[in-house]
Amino acid sequence: MPPDHIPIDPAALFLGPKAENADVLERLLLEALRDHVFWRRNFHPEDGFQISEQDKRAPAYEASISTLSQELFGLLAELKNGVPFFSPRYVGHMTADLTMASLVGYFATMLYNPNNVAAEGSPVTTRMELEVAAQLAAMVGYDPDRQWGHLCSGGTVANMEALWIARNVKYLPVALYWAVAELADELADRPLAVRLPDGRQSFIGELDLWALLNIRGEDALNSLDAFLALRPDDPTWSDRAWKAMHRNSLSELGFQAFGLRLAHDFDDALPPGVVLVPSTAHYSWAKSCRVLGLGEAQLVHVPVDDHFRMDPDALAGLLAELAARRQPVIAAVTVTGSTEESAVDRLDLLLDVRTRAERELGITFHFHADAAWGGYAASLTRNPDGSRRSHAQTIDDLATDAQADDAWPDAGLYAAICALEHTDSITIDPHKLGFVPYPAGAVSFSDRRLRHLVAVDAPYLYHEGRSDEGFIGRYILEGSKPGAAAASVWLTHKVLPLDYSGHGRLVALTMRGALVLHSALAAEHWGEFRIVPLPRPDLNIVCFAVGHPSMQTLEELNEAAERVYQALSVSPSRPTRALDYVLTKTVLRAEEYGEAALPLVARLGFTADDYRRAGGLAVLRCTVLDPFLVAGGARVDYVRGFLDTVRTEFERALRAGE
Ligand SMILES: *Cc1c(COP(=O)(O)O)cnc(C)c1O
Repeated sequence: MPPDHIPIDPAALFLGPKAENADVLERLLLEALRDHVFWRRNFHPEDGFQISEQDKRAPAYEASISTLSQELFGLLAELKNGVPFFSPRYVGHMTADLTMASLVGYFATMLYNPNNVAAEGSPVTTRMELEVAAQLAAMVGYDPDRQWGHLCSGGTVANMEALWIARNVKYLPVALYWAVAELADELADRPLAVRLPDGRQSFIGELDLWALLNIRGEDALNSLDAFLALRPDDPTWSDRAWKAMHRNSLSELGFQAFGLRLAHDFDDALPPGVVLVPSTAHYSWAKSCRVLGLGEAQLVHVPVDDHFRMDPDALAGLLAELAARRQPVIAAVTVTGSTEESAVDRLDLLLDVRTRAERELGITFHFHADAAWGGYAASLTRNPDGSRRSHAQTIDDLATDAQADDAWPDAGLYAAICALEHTDSITIDPHKLGFVPYPAGAVSFSDRRLRHLVAVDAPYLYHEGRSDEGFIGRYILEGSKPGAAAASVWLTHKVLPLDYSGHGRLVALTMRGALVLHSALAAEHWGEFRIVPLPRPDLNIVCFAVGHPSMQTLEELNEAAERVYQALSVSPSRPTRALDYVLTKTVLRAEEYGEAALPLVARLGFTADDYRRAGGLAVLRCTVLDPFLVAGGARVDYVRGFLDTVRTEFERALRAGE
């Protein structure tokens, strides 16, 4: 650490569980408001005032302001039924306290209400959005000169956009094939070459459908570039060539017409393209498949291992089967921090599977990392100058008191996080582990040319000047969106840079809380209860199942978990003030998880048949996002309190079940 490098103090980041930093936040918010007021006053001061002091005496004016004040008090009262995300007693959903930087950044900017759909309405915050996206891309390791990324409303939209692009790049070679055929007269002496996944070159006009649907994304884009440049002598060529490609694209034709033409022109009705996801995938992938017209039936689940990570051998086996059936793979989606278990897929191994499939099976596909939850963990592997920290360094700085042989992150997890740099696209949610308000998701692509495949007003040429960045809206799924969200993330990244000493430290603190909670659950003496935690979490979500001799079926056990969850979650009948601790529940459903949950089921004393009959295993789920959970400053021991509450609620659930 350089001598001038002062590590962040978590105490200075948040308003605090008891609003300990209220004076700071108040000062900064007031500063932001006053500054905005000056700005208004100084914009054409010669205009004079519109609303006079006299006007403010009017009865209608006073009535309006009274209504506003009164109704605000009503709103404030209602908001107290909200959820105490700020408290270490809250280990429920993926929501935490927000950084003061994000709140002030949001509030200050909201007063200006910039719209980041186009820089014309957001001259400042569009730049910030692209800067923030570049920071996230640099954190994962994308080439800064090639990446493209932006903010969006959340992981759902980020995932959908990534799949939209993956789909279009998959079918791009077919569009090129048809465009070349259409313009054949002009291209007689200039065939269009393309690189095949095994490295050989071919002419695009000579490929069959299966080969066209197995061109690496980068090679397809290179061919598109080459196509647009085939006739440098003709100034109208590239424009016409782009239009020809577009006319023949899936974007223009839609799946129905596109599919009919495939069947007609190639006389080859290939099975529909599939999207591969791990069993742990977020439900946004099902939505995306439906919206994009792929159909949810084309969403294929790859089994996970007993650490809930996608099984590389299972992926390899599935790819071989798909290749044998000649079923194209549009994309493989991996998860860095699964929503239920925070499991991190071994991207390093899974990317090797793709490389082998390219070489041995001649098939390829877009590789996406859904790191909506875990993306920020990559900051742990970065020095302030951006260089990568070794595995040993990454461990050294962590607040885990663990022995070296079970230090966090282990070598596999470290390799998986570093391998993010080799993906084609990635989803990261600043509004989760980035500790900023909604809406703030982000999507990044390793190759900025990809965005042209979804651009609505076709740019025809890849002119990559700054003016091109002025209108983000043309390349993305959404339209109007808050510049305030961009400023909020931007200011937070200033205070907490994306390296081990900034965001990394915060992630490490939440990890420490999760690991302490995980060990405490295992070490606690539970009497007749049998607590079965999931394996040590990759990131900061701790899940556990609970058994008891009096619960003789898995169904009874699942019901007890449901009752405990009901007792420890917010609902219309249970306001937050009645709750000591808040957690959530999930079900490891047999349909999705297959064998992955069987070791847990066995430890609870049940069989695979019991599991299938019950349909799943209910586990309680604790998302540890609060850096103060085990900090020890407060008067209570939150972990102790949590364990006692869980025990009490299970005892109650047992009595209720009798
Ligand atoms: C939360 C989450 C999403 C969805 O993100 P939203 O911001 O809620 O739309 C997608 N994937 C994973 C892995 C997530 O954890």
